[in-house]
Amino acid sequence: MFIRDPESIEAIRDGVRCLCANFDDAYWRQVDEEKGFPEAFVNALTEAGWLAAMIPEEYGGSGLGLTEASVILEEVNRCGGNSGTVHGQMYNMFTLLRHGSEEQKRQYLPRIAAGELRLQSMGVTEPTTGTDTTKIKTTAVRRGDKYVINGQKVWISRIQHSDLMILLARTTPIDQVQRKSLGMSIFLVDLHQAIGNGLSVQPIPNMVNHETNELFFDNLEIPADSLIGEEGMGFRYILDGLNAERTLIAAECIGDGRWFIDKATRYARDREVFGRPIGMNQGVQFPIAQAHIDVEAADLMRWRACHEYDSGQNAGASANMAKYLAAEASWKAANVCLQTHGGFGFACEYDVERKFRETRLYQVAPISTNLILSYVAEHLLDLPRSF
Ligand SMILES: Cc1cc2nc3c(=O)[nH]c(=O)nc-3n(C[C@H](O)[C@H](O)[C@H](O)COP(=O)(O)OP(=O)(O)OC[C@H]3O[C@@H](n4cnc5c(N)ncnc54)[C@H](O)[C@@H]3O)c2cc1C
Repeated sequence: MFIRDPESIEAIRDGVRCLCANFDDAYWRQVDEEKGFPEAFVNALTEAGWLAAMIPEEYGGSGLGLTEASVILEEVNRCGGNSGTVHGQMYNMFTLLRHGSEEQKRQYLPRIAAGELRLQSMGVTEPTTGTDTTKIKTTAVRRGDKYVINGQKVWISRIQHSDLMILLARTTPIDQVQRKSLGMSIFLVDLHQAIGNGLSVQPIPNMVNHETNELFFDNLEIPADSLIGEEGMGFRYILDGLNAERTLIAAECIGDGRWFIDKATRYARDREVFGRPIGMNQGVQFPIAQAHIDVEAADLMRWRACHEYDSGQNAGASANMAKYLAAEASWKAANVCLQTHGGFGFACEYDVERKFRETRLYQVAPISTNLILSYVAEHLLDLPRSF
């Protein structure tokens, strides 16, 4: 109902599926087992131009909308892959596109579109402040033609596989601003210049094979023209990108949900116990049917969010609700898929446990479920602020 051009959407699905066919379950399983990075997959997706989908044509991209971009990430996950290895570039690019100067856009976007540069990282979260972003302690102090950065970040993903990072830091102390959301700024940091010259990186071993790190800034000097947009307005710029980010994550969850449901139904048809397929038992088929209904319902909200975003409307409500519904639905589908597989769900060679871990992340990152509920309660239902 919300899709402008269903045929082009199907063409995108086919194209991404075709590419993903070269990176099958065995590929992703091996990357996971080795705790490696799917370099070949990321290169292939970049070279095929899919990661530049939303970069405007004048900067070398395809100039497509959020609708099309969401289909790309959905299909990667639906094919058994993990968009978490690449999605950063899609939404980090927005920040540069919307708030960067013309000079910055001309300098970076064509090279990002051509695959020469990766803008896969965004440094916001800090160990002592967590979700309470306005309290971040990392500072950027202007000294002549430089900013000097000090502080610490945590859970910053894809640093080791990116050339550039968007960094949020406080440029005016919180006790000197009228509103706590003011006085923070964003910078485009050249990681090759920064690492070893004031920025050190400590990888965080974690439950999913997600390349993520702790960052320590010790008098890192970056050129003053790394500032994106106006000094002090960085928090608003970050918020600006969130509706797109949440909608893209919702699409990834929908891809995961469909993967789990396909996998569960296939197994339920094939696996025979007590002399008949386990899928003949309503106790097995009903949970799969429920999970399917939840994924399809979440998908409707995702299309609404895409439509609102692409037509220039405020997509805040739909994007948040889509992310919530889709993350819940994919997690429910993951549980059902695991249960349907019985003991084999725990065996790595079935891939269920890997996807189960991967989709669990979306209840927490990039935004936790509680924070979405809080947004809905306060912004949509006008309930009193809880923090
Ligand atoms: C694998 C991974 C990759 C990540 N990648 C990045 C990245 O690239 N860049 C980046 O900046 N960050 C990244 N993050 C960080 C992620 O965005 C945060 O983990 C997430 O926003 C939650 O913050 P926190 O972990 O500090 O939890 P906390 O803020 O400490 O919260 C802990 C729990 O308490 C709940 N909670 C807190 N306050 C409230 C409240 N007022 N009401 C109700 N519930 C509350 C939260 O919902 C959460 O469940 C990543 C995290 C992970 C795990």
